[in-house]
Amino acid sequence: MVADVEVSGGHWIGGERVASAATFDDVSPIDEAVIARISRGGATEAHAAVSAAAASSPAWASTPPTERARLLHRVADIVEDRLERLAIVETIDNGALLRSHLRGVMPRVAHNFRFFADYLVNDLHHPDFETRGHHNHVSWDPSGVAVLITPWNAPLMLATWKVAPALAAGCTVVLKPAEWTPLTASLLADITKEAGIPDGVFNVVQGLGEEVGDALTGDPRVSRISFTGSVPTARLIARSAAANLTPCSFELGGKSPFIVFADADMDSAVANAVEQYDNAGQVCLAGVRLLVEDAVLDEFVERFLARAAAVRQGDPRDLATDVGPQISREHFERVDGFVRRAVTAGAEALLGGGPNEQLGGLYYRPTLLAGAAPGAEILTDEVFGPVLTVQSFSTEDEAIAMANGTEFGLAGVLFTGDRARAERVSAQLVAGTMWVNCFFVRDLRAPFGGSRHSGVGREGGTWSFDFYCDVKNTCTNVDRWTP
Ligand code: NAD
Repeated sequence: MVADVEVSGGHWIGGERVASAATFDDVSPIDEAVIARISRGGATEAHAAVSAAAASSPAWASTPPTERARLLHRVADIVEDRLERLAIVETIDNGALLRSHLRGVMPRVAHNFRFFADYLVNDLHHPDFETRGHHNHVSWDPSGVAVLITPWNAPLMLATWKVAPALAAGCTVVLKPAEWTPLTASLLADITKEAGIPDGVFNVVQGLGEEVGDALTGDPRVSRISFTGSVPTARLIARSAAANLTPCSFELGGKSPFIVFADADMDSAVANAVEQYDNAGQVCLAGVRLLVEDAVLDEFVERFLARAAAVRQGDPRDLATDVGPQISREHFERVDGFVRRAVTAGAEALLGGGPNEQLGGLYYRPTLLAGAAPGAEILTDEVFGPVLTVQSFSTEDEAIAMANGTEFGLAGVLFTGDRARAERVSAQLVAGTMWVNCFFVRDLRAPFGGSRHSGVGREGGTWSFDFYCDVKNTCTNVDRWTP
């Protein structure tokens, strides 16, 4: 039981709970207490889950789209019914704010299912076209078994961002959630069963990535691999998938720029900049490099610090809290290591700069570093914690060069009052998503993904169906029908 919610620590394979002899501890970041013992899967469980998914694939692929859509809406209904339970379990498991889970994240989980169900039925079509008396028709054929591997920073939201389109597309699924946050994937398995998703169509394998990963990603029966996580893990998966040429979609890390020109609405720029501490900085898309035009640097920093002073750090179950803990002790130390090395190398902490001594545990103070030398690791490597840097620029070209000066290309955030400049700069930034005078506005019809080391491919709307399906063109000579 976690917060009075019954959560199974077993795998979910072929419509049944399966336990492994070995287990691992699931620890809450709120107080580092063990909250569950989870089955520690390996090659045997991975093989069994892919077998269940492969066996159920033909029937699910031939289930009419309207029926698949009906079942996915049923999943969304149950998610909405259980919203509070899912929210509190997720908060205890990953330390993100209960307020966000209640208001934004869990509603988005339901929306993931509804959106892809509706897209399948209403929007997934390409107009037929003629070529010299031949008729062309494009169809999206289910590809088979999709293996979905997901991270801990937004566990159920990011898992269902893959599960929903894969199931809508007619694929069967094996989900491998992150070992730091296994619980809501387990609750989702119960929900799919209750919704009437046939046994074997949705499977969950729990375990440590390196122990279960290869067996899942190297299985020749797997038709697609969608992964959200870090660059080093993506490299391992790509290597494993290469043996069977299994197509992969990768959503990876970022080091996104947040550019503020002197002509920007400063209230809005400052408010959005402070929001980069959301989820205790554990957001792939966060604009962590504040690049501010030198004419307004002092004003911006002063106003940023004033606003950031009002950010409340504490227990994420408290609805008044703005910033919670880091996910794990290991991650906390990693974040602290980045900050210490940056300061040793000459950067100055204008805000924070270390653990929150009052709260103890895994609470790291929202931090703003200035004066890092060009090329310093704090300006190039992903920290994935509540750590922002601020630098100034004097020209548009310099801002663009600085913004593009990492190996990543996930997102870009730009504040300016000049429309022509916004268009010029956006066009030159390497990024999968640009936000101009806003941040984090998401529409599931839009493509989502990263350039360079931030990812391979795009998901969202048609792009998700393009990935999970074998897209087929049928070209017919319409003069050859028997009368
Ligand atoms: P991670 O790569 O350590 O782990 C992600 C998942 O991969 C986990 O489920 C893990 O068990 C699994 N895994 C680990 N080794 C594996 C292997 N050898 N084979 C198969 N699976 C394996 O990443 P993380 O620490 O959980 O997540 C943080 C990273 O995710 C950050 O870099 C962040 O930027 C990125 N992220 C990206 C997006 C995006 O949409 N671009 C969203 C969220 C997080």
